[in-house]
Amino acid sequence: MISEECYELGSKSSIIREIFAFGLQRKAEVGADKVFDFSLGNPSIPAPDSVKQAIIDLMEQPAEEVHAYSPAPGDAKVRKMIADSLNRRFGESFTEKNIFMTCGAAASLNICFKALANPGDEFVTFAPFFPEYRCWVEGVGATLQVVQPHLPDFQIDFEGLEKILSPRTKAVIINTPNNPSGVVYSLDTIQKLTELLKKKSEIYQKPIYLITDEPYREIVYDEIEVPYLTKYYENTLVCYSYSKSLSLPGERIGYIVIPDRLTDYERISPAIAGAARVLGFVCAPSLFQQVVAKCVEDTGDISAYKENRDLLIEGLTKLGYTCVTPQGAFYLFMKALEPDAATFCERAKKYDLLLVPSDDFGCQGYVRIAYCVARETIQNSMTAFEKLMQEYQ
Ligand code: PLP
Repeated sequence: MISEECYELGSKSSIIREIFAFGLQRKAEVGADKVFDFSLGNPSIPAPDSVKQAIIDLMEQPAEEVHAYSPAPGDAKVRKMIADSLNRRFGESFTEKNIFMTCGAAASLNICFKALANPGDEFVTFAPFFPEYRCWVEGVGATLQVVQPHLPDFQIDFEGLEKILSPRTKAVIINTPNNPSGVVYSLDTIQKLTELLKKKSEIYQKPIYLITDEPYREIVYDEIEVPYLTKYYENTLVCYSYSKSLSLPGERIGYIVIPDRLTDYERISPAIAGAARVLGFVCAPSLFQQVVAKCVEDTGDISAYKENRDLLIEGLTKLGYTCVTPQGAFYLFMKALEPDAATFCERAKKYDLLLVPSDDFGCQGYVRIAYCVARETIQNSMTAFEKLMQEYQ
């Protein structure tokens, strides 16, 4: 007998991947320029030049310095450079022992879930949420509880959160800037959230950890600030990734911040190491540890995303669609023109318009538009959006 759970997960792909695969097939049939594929969150801007230069420079170094196994939590010098950068930018006082290098946010999150979870534990998150959270949380034997969004701003619904928190809550997961809504939690939201978690931790006489999933931290527009959570809540674990900020999703590199201030730090830190060990996520890719250390405060040129965002919002609003204005990431959440978002997306496919229904993100009636695409894709898609709108008039 094999694992039924793994069989189930592996034998069907995610809706996003299904739509993407459909897009590839349509592009082969009708030509790439005729298909408006907004399905996947693959960065469309190149990595900054500093990444290329860092790789070239590293190739001149002795092979054993760039391709060998690093210590399990990562190279100490790399971790120190990351800690120093966080201290400079966010007024923190981390050292290398607070940083654990990982294979991207997926690994960071899985390690944190595994390190914290015991049977019967609950992890709470907020719709709309990254669909993989469910299989990762369930994969460590815990349960995912979902709080519906506060509408129309997609900030936190605190009444809903208060109802869901319980003595079984091990951690709350947030993702800001958010995939799929593009919303950034305001300072007011963060303050209310952290106050509520402090209050509930006291009532339950146990810490509720806050896990913040931050692959989009650097991708924000209009100079909006993304509060750094460790400054507001001592029981915060930060899961960071360079997949989007440096446009390096295929290189699998990121880190976890494990602050000294965590309740039970002396046990959590080894538990993170143990979880990484059992999951096989030790010694993150050596070459890319060195690369990110050399580019520690760089990002790609995100102005292209902002231009795409503005173009899309202007075009869709003019056509009569209702959109949630994204303040970050490269996703736009748009109201479907009928209650069933999946049916709406099927109708959109007729015009080779590939949108992702919101159901898998935990809420109904919206679609996600990933605008990390070429400018022309957005410009040329407007006729298709117009035809789709006409169907509903
Ligand atoms: N969390 C969110 C919200 C994401 O959007 C993604 C990837 O798209 C991940 C985690 C996984 O990121 P990584 O490529 O760093 O594993």
